[in-house]
Order: sequence, then C-alpha cells, then structure tokens
Amino acid sequence: MPTRVRFGWGRFQEFRQVVDELNGKRIFLVTGKRFAKKSGILDKISDYLKGLTLVVFAEVEENPSIETVDRGAVKCRESELDLVVGLGGGSALDAGKAIAMLQRNPGSIREYLDQERVCQAKGLSFIAVPTTSGTGSEVTPFTVITHKAKNAKPAIAPPQNFPDVALVDPELTMSMPLKAAASTGLDALCQAVEGFWSTQGNPLTRSLAFQAIKIAMENLESACLRKDKQSVTNMALASHLTGIEMSNIGNTSIHPLSYPITLGYGIAHGFACAMFLPAVIRFNGQAIEDRFRNLLRVLNISSVEAFADRIDSLMEKLAAPRRLSEVGVKPQDIPNIAKRGMGRSTAWNPRPMDEEDIVQLCKTIL
Ligand code: NAD
Repeated sequence: MPTRVRFGWGRFQEFRQVVDELNGKRIFLVTGKRFAKKSGILDKISDYLKGLTLVVFAEVEENPSIETVDRGAVKCRESELDLVVGLGGGSALDAGKAIAMLQRNPGSIREYLDQERVCQAKGLSFIAVPTTSGTGSEVTPFTVITHKAKNAKPAIAPPQNFPDVALVDPELTMSMPLKAAASTGLDALCQAVEGFWSTQGNPLTRSLAFQAIKIAMENLESACLRKDKQSVTNMALASHLTGIEMSNIGNTSIHPLSYPITLGYGIAHGFACAMFLPAVIRFNGQAIEDRFRNLLRVLNISSVEAFADRIDSLMEKLAAPRRLSEVGVKPQDIPNIAKRGMGRSTAWNPRPMDEEDIVQLCKTIL
C-alpha cells in the first residue's frame, strides 16, 4: 500500500506541511457541493494555503458521474495546477482521484470505465482527506464513477490511483448528520465482513478485516448517536483498515447488490449495502461458521444467526432502512435487481451465489 498515512484527531492542521512535502504550489481542491463550505473546512484550507494558488471545484455529487469528473478535469487542466486534493466522503475522493489521473492520461474517464483506454501514467500528486468513516477510499486505488448511460457504477483500480498521502483526521467527520454517519459506518462494516469471508482473503487481509469488524461492532452505535471522540476515532480506523484490506482483495457479493438499489431507488451507498448484510450472513450460514467462531466469541455473540440479528437491531437503532419495500422496491423489481446485482466479485462469496439465490434472498427482506 504505497499511500503515506497521517492518522489522528486534529492532524488536519498538518495539511500545509503535507502540501509542501509534495511540492504543491497550485492546488486543485475537489469537494462536495455544500458541507465543506458550511462546516468551515474550506476557510481553514484557504488559510493554510496562504501564498499558494487554490482553485476550488465544489461540484461533486453523491456517487459522482462521468460528466462531473470530466468537467473537473478540464477545469484543472485549464488552470495549470500541480496538486489535487480530494476532501469529503468516498464520492469526493473518487472524483479527485479520477481528475488527478486525467491530467496525465488523455480522454474522458468514460473511456477508462468502458475499458477503451488503460491508465498508463501516474496522475498529478493526490492528497485524500476523508470526512466520512466508511469507504477507506483514502487508501485504495478504486475509483467508482456513475455511468448514467449504462445505469451502472463501474470502477477502475489502476495502481497509479493510490493517493500519495491520506490525511485522516477523525475530527473532520464530526459534522456528519446521523444519516451520513450511519450509512458510511455501515458501509465500513459491510466491507469488513466481506473482506473477512472472501475466498480471495489471506492471513493479512483477514487480520485487518477481523479488527475492522470488531471495532465497527463495538463503536458504530456510539459514534453515530453519542459522537464521543473515542468511538468516532475508532470508526475512522475501522474504515481505514477496510480500505487497506479491500485494496488487496476487493469485495464479494454485497457491494454489487447495492448498486441497483443506489441507482434505481436513490439510496445512500452504505445503506444500500447494509440492507443485504444480515440476509447474506444468513445465506452464507454454515459456510462461514468456522471462520467466524473466534471473532464471534470475542464479540460475545453466540452464533452466525445471532450475528445477523445483532446487525439487524443495530440498523434499527441507527434508523437505517432494513426492508427493500421501505425504499420503494416492488416484488416485480426483484428479478432485475438480481440480474444487475451480480458482479465479478459475487464469485468470491464463500457460498456460491447465483441469480435465483439472490431472488430468494431479496424476497426474505422485501
Ligand atoms: P459520500 O461521499 O457520497 O457522502 C455522503 C454525503 O455526506 C454527501 O452529501 C457529502 O457531502 C456529505 N458529507 C461528507 N462528509 C461530511 C461531513 N463531515 N459532514 C457533513 N456532511 C458530510 O458518501 P461515502 O459513503 O463516503 O462515499 C460513497 C461513494 O464512495 C460511492 O460512490 C461509493 O461507490 C464509493 N466507494 C468508493 C470506494 C473506494 O475505495 N474508492 C469504496 C467504497 C465506496
């Protein structure tokens, strides 16, 4: 994992030092439409970067589109900038990675997503500053972009897209409203569980996933509902660990299932993943019993079934949607969700899963 990491409460104040170390003089800041300004982080950044050029691209929507990335790439090129900063959740970080990449690679991001071009060159230096605790994108090469024409969320993962520096300050996540904290935290939990049971796993990735599940199970509720410094810091750590784990082995069956729910019903990424988590744990059942025994003992949970129940009740406490019908899915939509919810990584689920299995699984959570 080539990204240099600075992690800890309050470390955002090292931002200027990081910029100087990367020799940044003309900085392109990629962020969301509102919160960076509203939370005062943007003012802080302007202050830190006194004497340097700062161009702000505050146009990234949730699940960023090809059009947004291409627009940002043009603006960055026109302003002749030399360093890109992504500030925000996974959406802003992924858009920032893509924009940095396109400064040294020709064409539209669409061509890379459609595999018409391959990333050849390292893009501009890129600093990732996460403000959610969910995706771990600050330490992955994954660049997930919404492809509206295909109604899909494809990803590219060229090794050149690992951020140069991840500046992870959990304090920056404090401004998240409950919905964002719950959704992103549940995403981290899903990534950790998928990483732990993936058939692609190895002792290193399983160690990271084990820790991430334990930390998320012990801290997510408190980080969302009480927002104490310790649990908020721990959730940033859980998310970060899943990023390192995932950049080695990817996800399994849950993440592909989330994409038709996000795209078709406008549900936040983490919520869309978590809706399937208890059901897929139950589906995997016996196939994961041995692997989970130790972890569940540490968490004081008696069985895989009880683990699914615990997550279900955690989701209820966090006001997360738990049934597909709650978000507008109709019984007749299920075959299409099953078809579109199969991805390459579905094959890495510990129990083989086909379209008919997904149809049955969706019916249990309708
Ligand atoms: P997000 O980036 O879409 O942010 C969710 C909302 O929270 C946005 O409206 C954003 O403006 C707001 N927000 C962010 N930080 C905030 C803060 N501190 N205070 C107040 N509001 C804040 O959500 P996300 O879950 O972090 O990212 C999801 C995206 O990341 C999806 O596109 C998903 O596919 C992608 N993803 C990428 C990777 C990767 O490794 N690259 C991994 C998993 C998911």
